[in-house]
Amino acid sequence: MNPEQCLFCKISKGEIKATILYQDAAVTAFRDIHPVAPTHVLIVPNKHIQSINEMEAEDELILGHLFFVAKKITQQENIAESGYRSIINTGVHGGQTVSHLHLHIIGGKPLREPMG
Ligand code: 5GP
Ligand code: ZN
Repeated sequence: MNPEQCLFCKISKGEIKATILYQDAAVTAFRDIHPVAPTHVLIVPNKHIQSINEMEAEDELILGHLFFVAKKITQQENIAESGYRSIINTGVHGGQTVSHLHLHIIGGKPLREPMG
């Protein structure tokens, strides 16, 4: 997919509106448009990486940073202590619907099903 057409590239560049909770040079965190729990945040690399399958060695630090930002978000959202789920879906069987790698952070209620 052409990054010019990519929804999450557009959100990270501010070309499409989203509720952005955190942004730095490497990643952007924003609220999911269809939350499955009281807190449902997506954290994406600003670089267009389609999925874990397309990850390159140079992306290792960015993905580590994604999880460190997840920690900050869970503190801000006050779900760090109660707990949450962090999910990266890949490909058709994984249920990936947007072809730009994203980490779901889902919490704020007890979760039973895999996606809340
Ligand atoms: P996936 O199924 O690919 O793991 O997750 C994609 C997520 O992106 C879904 O939870 C969906 O609700 C969310 N999403 C899709 N389109 C938009 C959008 O335009 N804005 C925001 N904020 N989230 C979106
Ligand atoms: Zn993209």
